[in-house]
Amino acid sequence: MKLSRVGIVGAGQLGRMLALAGYPLGINCVFLDRSAAAPAAQVAPIITGELEDAAQLTALAACSDVLTFDWENIAGGALAPLEKLTQVRPPRAALEVSQDRLAEKALFSRLRIPVAAHAAIDGKEQLVRATRKLGLPGVLKTRRLGYDGKGQFLVRDAAHIDAAWAAIGGPGLIYERFQEFSREVSIVGARSAAGQTVFYPLSANVHGGGILRYSIAPFTNRVLEHAARTYLKRVMKSLSYVGVLAIEFFVVKGRLIANEMAPRVHNSGHWTIEGCVTSQFENHLRAICDLPLGSTRALGHTAMVNFLGAMPDRERLLSMDGLAFHDYGKEPRPGRKLGHCTILKCRAMERNLALADALKLIRWT
Ligand code: AMP
Repeated sequence: MKLSRVGIVGAGQLGRMLALAGYPLGINCVFLDRSAAAPAAQVAPIITGELEDAAQLTALAACSDVLTFDWENIAGGALAPLEKLTQVRPPRAALEVSQDRLAEKALFSRLRIPVAAHAAIDGKEQLVRATRKLGLPGVLKTRRLGYDGKGQFLVRDAAHIDAAWAAIGGPGLIYERFQEFSREVSIVGARSAAGQTVFYPLSANVHGGGILRYSIAPFTNRVLEHAARTYLKRVMKSLSYVGVLAIEFFVVKGRLIANEMAPRVHNSGHWTIEGCVTSQFENHLRAICDLPLGSTRALGHTAMVNFLGAMPDRERLLSMDGLAFHDYGKEPRPGRKLGHCTILKCRAMERNLALADALKLIRWT
C-alpha cells in the first residue's frame, strides 16, 4: 500500500520541517495540536484539540496512512488504540521508554551502552544517600517531561541538596553523577520497517542552560562515530524501530556515555536540511512511508545555530554567503526556540576554527 498521508501528533517546528520535506515527495502531513497558530499549522492542515484526546487522535488516524510525532510525550495508553486504526511509527515502545529517563537508562544498560552512574529518587533521604553513594557533583532531574534543561538541578555539593529538593523535589526523580565531558555529540539515524539503516555523521553540540545553542557537523572521529552507530543500531533493532532516532552522548575520556534518546527528528540534526544529500526530515518520512532511505552524505562542514528567545536581524544574516535561515513562526518568549540558521561549507570551519566562528555568530543573534 502506498503511504502518503502522514498524521503528526503535535505541530511544532519539527512537524513544520517534516511537512515542508514531505511536499516534494508527494507526502502530505496533517497535524493535531492545541493551537491553530502552531508552527506546522502555518504550512499544513490541522485538527485542533488536546494531544491525548481519544476522539481527536482517532480523527487524525482516520485521515492518515501512518501516524508519527512531533511531541514524544504522549501517553502510551492514548496511543495503544490507534495501532488498530493505522500504522504508528516509531513504535509505541520507543516513545514509552524515552519518556522515562530511568527506563531509558535501563534499556541502554541492557544493550551494553554506557550511561552515567544513577539512582531513582522518590524522597529527600534517598537523594542524600545517592549523593553519598554515587558522589558529587550530580544532576537531579525529573524522570518525565523534562526538556531543554527544564526539571533539572545541578547539585554541586552536599550544601545544595536542600535547594535542589526545594526546586524540583518530589517523587519520580533521578540523580545522575555529573559527567566531566570534553564534548557533547549526537548521532541521528533512520531505520525502515525492512531493517535498512542509515546514519548521519556525528554532530558536536554545545548547550547552555540545558538548551542546545549550536551544533557543528560533521564532527569527525572514527572511533566515536563507530561506537555511536553501533549503539544507535542496537537500540533501533531492540525496539523494531521505524523512523528517525537520535541519541545524545557525553564524551568522557574518549568514550561515549549515553545521555538520552529522542524517538523523532532532533534539533542537533537540523543541519542536515542543507548540509546533507537527504535531510533527517525527509528520511523520517521515507522510513515511515516505506520508501527507500536517502543518502546521509554530508556536503561539507556546517554550523547550526539556534535562535532562542528573540529572532536575530534577518537582513544582516541573509547578507552572509552560504547561510540558510529558518523562522518557525513562533511568538517570542524568553529561552524559546524560535528558529535556527545553518552556515554552509564555512571556510573557517575547514581551517578548524569552527567553534570560534559559531560563537561569533551567536553574538550576532
Ligand atoms: P538533558 O535534558 O538530559 O539532555 O540535559 C541537558 C544538558 O544538561 C545536557 O546536554 C548537558 O549539557 C547537561 N547535563 C545533563 N545531565 C548531565 C550530567 N549528568 N553531567 C553533565 N552534564 C549534564
